[in-house]
Amino acid sequence: MKVLKEITVWEVEHRQPNHTYLLSGDKVVAYKKWHEGEAEVFKKPMRFDRARRKFTELKYVATEWGVEEEQKNIVVVEGSKGNTYEVDLDEEKCNCPGHTYRGHCKHIDLAKSRVALAAA
Ligand SMILES: [Zn+2]
Repeated sequence: MKVLKEITVWEVEHRQPNHTYLLSGDKVVAYKKWHEGEAEVFKKPMRFDRARRKFTELKYVATEWGVEEEQKNIVVVEGSKGNTYEVDLDEEKCNCPGHTYRGHCKHIDLAKSRVALAAA
């Protein structure tokens, strides 16, 4: 099982809500509307179309109290075209196209400086 949180930045004319999906293999078995509240379980697993969409995998850890979402060190920064990107400071990854193609981008440095400022 995999939990994928959709973080697609939709173009204004195609805007739609992003949800969190529970996958078994390549089929969706449940989803959580708007990443919140109770998950809705499908009677039949559904095909999952990931084309042109972006997801971040949520990891869960077992604790004394049950299962909890593993907290990641994610900072959201604005790109130059008004988009927002999620920078994972633990893995030094960003979900912008530049990072996907080149493996580095300015958002990571921006996120680090934000954190440094906030901590100062
Ligand atoms: Zn970036």
